[in-house]
Order: sequence, then C-alpha cells, then structure tokens
Amino acid sequence: MINEAKIIIHNGRQYIPDLHTVKLRSPFRGRPEISDKKVDEDALVDICPLGAISRDPLRLDMGKCAFCGECAFAFPEKIKFTTDYKISSNVRENLIVKEGDSRPIIFDKDAIRDDLRKTLGKSLKLRQVSAGGDNSCEMELGAAGNANFDMSRYGIEFVASPRHADGIVITGPITKSMTEPLRIAFDAIPEPKIVVLCGVDAISGGMFEGSDAISRAILNDIDVDLYIPGNPSHPLTIVTALLALTRGTLKE
Ligand code: SF4
Repeated sequence: MINEAKIIIHNGRQYIPDLHTVKLRSPFRGRPEISDKKVDEDALVDICPLGAISRDPLRLDMGKCAFCGECAFAFPEKIKFTTDYKISSNVRENLIVKEGDSRPIIFDKDAIRDDLRKTLGKSLKLRQVSAGGDNSCEMELGAAGNANFDMSRYGIEFVASPRHADGIVITGPITKSMTEPLRIAFDAIPEPKIVVLCGVDAISGGMFEGSDAISRAILNDIDVDLYIPGNPSHPLTIVTALLALTRGTLKE
C-alpha cells in the first residue's frame, strides 16, 4: 500500500482535469489569424503547397491546411498560428479563416441534429476507419483515450465492430481500395449515426486531392456531422469537438 502511494506521488497526476482550458505552447499550430498588413498576396497564395490560401478576400481554409507553417514563416507579419486548439466545426465553411478575423471557430449549435444530443450525449461509441491514412491521425485518436486525455471519462470510446458503434470516424484521403470497406462499415452502423472527418486528408484529400488513387464520392451520399482539422489532429481538438457535437457545447 505504501509502495503504491509512493508510485502515485512519484508519477504525479497524469490526467488533464479540464480539457477545455488547457494552454498549449508554441510550436503547436492551432487557429490561424490573418492580419490586414499589405503583402504580396500572389506570393502568399503560391507558397502554400496544398492550395489552402486564396484571395479576394484573403482567406485560409483549415480543411485544406497541413499546418506546415510555411506561410507564417515567409509572411510572419501577415499570418500567425495561435495555440487555440478548438478549431473544429460542424459546418465546413466555418473552417475558413478570413483576413482580420480573430474570433474563435464557430460551432453551430443549431445545426446539430436533435437526435444526436438526445441519444448520444452521455455515451458515444465510435468505429474508426482508416481510408488510406498514414497512421498519424489514427495515433492521435488512440492518444485521445490515453491516461492524459482520457476521453472515456465522457463516455466516448472506440469499438471494434461498426454494429456496436454510434458513428464512424474517417481518417485518410479515402483511397479507391478503401471505398467499399468504408461503405460497408458505414452501412453497418445503426441510425442515428454520426460521421466525423478527422484530419486534413479526410476533410479535403489534403496533399492527395486530385489524385487518381483516391475516390471521395461516398462523401456526396452521406451527411458529415463534424470536421476536425489538423495534420494530424491534436487529441484536445478531437475530444473537445466530439463533446461539442454530442453535448452542444464547447464548455464541459
Ligand atoms: S500552414 Fe497551411 S496554409 Fe500555410 S502553407 Fe502550410 S498548408 Fe498552406
């Protein structure tokens, strides 16, 4: 007993008591801000390898952004990345940050389906499908359940079978070879089911956008409930987003 107490004291507290108030430090890159300083906008647009920056008005789409930081390195007076990790939304357009906009990312409570909050607010079982993923988002989803982030304290867990799941979390750009397994897993989940796109590859195809090796047509047939940006997504981003979707709040 004494030895066990010594181990607990030595290890300290591992879990994060409140996932909504964590202060992350640089070099973590979260919500971007675009100042109104004048720069060569063509050069800024060109520097992004993923086409996440566009003009008129100047904006940065987090659904396409790999958070590589190249734009901020080249134009620090124009673009900076804050450490705000609550960058998910249930509305795709809300992932687009415009020039001069320093507000938090908007999670539209009114757009959340009523049946989700009623049935999944206290318990959420998810099936994860890596549709051509590189194992980075998959690792962070696993980390969301570790001793630090401990998402199971909110009743959120991954399950092995889609028949036992309330929703699906898709990672990866959706390669052609994964379209059929993804469809089978999606169809096997009972209603009401949620669909989560985790990471830039899942949201937009990322660097594989336009590749012959991917096929994202399935996304035309299903309603996406949650977009979680990142490359990969941070566990804090993941858990706070799932809580926002199922409990209707970004505050616990
Ligand atoms: S941080 Fe995002 S927007 Fe900037 S260059 Fe990289 S991918 Fe493009």
